Amino acid sequence: MAISVEEALRLIREDAVPLGNEAVSLEHLLGRVLAEDLAADRPFPPYDRIMMDGVALNADAFEAGQRIFPVQEFQPAGMSPVTLQSPDHCIEIATGASLPVGCNAVVMYEQLNIKDDAAHILCDDIKHGQHIHPQGSDRKQGDIIVPRGGICGAAEIGVAATVGKSTVTVVRQPRIVFVTTGDELVDVDITPAPHQIRKSNAYALGALFGFPTSVSHLPDDRGKLSQFFEAASTDFDVIVLCGAVSKGKRDFVPEVLSELGATQVFHGVHQRPGKPMWFGRLGDTRIFGLPGNPVSTFLCGLRYLHAWIGRAQGIPPSVQTARLAEAVTFEPALTYFLQVKLQDGKAIPVPGRGSGDHANLVDADGFLELPADRNHFTIGERFPVHPYRRQSL
Ligand code: AMP
Ligand code: MG
Repeated sequence: MAISVEEALRLIREDAVPLGNEAVSLEHLLGRVLAEDLAADRPFPPYDRIMMDGVALNADAFEAGQRIFPVQEFQPAGMSPVTLQSPDHCIEIATGASLPVGCNAVVMYEQLNIKDDAAHILCDDIKHGQHIHPQGSDRKQGDIIVPRGGICGAAEIGVAATVGKSTVTVVRQPRIVFVTTGDELVDVDITPAPHQIRKSNAYALGALFGFPTSVSHLPDDRGKLSQFFEAASTDFDVIVLCGAVSKGKRDFVPEVLSELGATQVFHGVHQRPGKPMWFGRLGDTRIFGLPGNPVSTFLCGLRYLHAWIGRAQGIPPSVQTARLAEAVTFEPALTYFLQVKLQDGKAIPVPGRGSGDHANLVDADGFLELPADRNHFTIGERFPVHPYRRQSL
């Protein structure tokens, strides 16, 4: 018996369990969920850091009226701090260097002239501490900069490197295999006969998730399906099937899984597209049986597999919404995932010609989730939206 979208999501989230942790190198940290805190191993910044190229001096001497400061020496970045031998001298200094001992201000080159090995100060005022970034002023040693559970983007990866983590403990990602099914499908680099099509779903789905996944294919054959399930359930956390879950004579997936003793959590969701979706477990392996039409497969991956992976990774669900740009009527008592183009927070319907209209996915940016208990949706109303385009530079 089919269930509602809300119930299907509840069951999927309830089923998703953490998959343990693993260590990854900085190069592989993008998008991963931290299983450890990233803490400051040193203060931020770690020393009184010079912020301008120029001279470091003692501002008390300037206040007492001195304007010409002989240069004692040059201290580049990366050199341990020198000591100002006399308060009426200065040290030429580079951005990123550590404040020389005895100095308390920096004057940038734009506000002085260097003549005869002396800095002639041109400005009228020097503040104590100017152009010095004090040690520990941003974060103290031991402060947690990124707490566990955080998702690593570019900023977090930079912090990991700064605190000396060349490998970081993160939540393990599921091992997923995407399996296309169907005797009408051929490999991508084959020229199909007139009655055949190329396997596209597994590639599209894999790309939705942005981490390594495997791809396999099975004919509409009970024995082959059965053999595959037995082998794959030891190798993968999740098996995602495209096709063969509906009511067709060769839609063998539900029946084969039942023969193998799989637990069916649900079969059928009151939604369009993707009504025949199957979800369950074979041992510890989760099985998503997604209807084979490209738009159905895509939507079910985006809405349900995404929710399962998110929960297993410990990522809280986030709901985006958008306003309908036109009135929409949809009669069946099903949740309607309407394909939309997203522009300035508005959802412009681009419904396409149904779940087989593969090319329409390219015209849309996401699916607007219109609830099952209504038929008319007015312009300007806000609904949850599931976008699938990644932000690009
Ligand atoms: P099924 O769910 O197996 O009845 O398939 C429904 C429709 O989706 C059929 O027209 C299939 O040919 C098509 N289809 C199934 N699998 C794929 C796939 N991997 N790529 C593209 N189309 C598919
Ligand atoms: Mg099929």
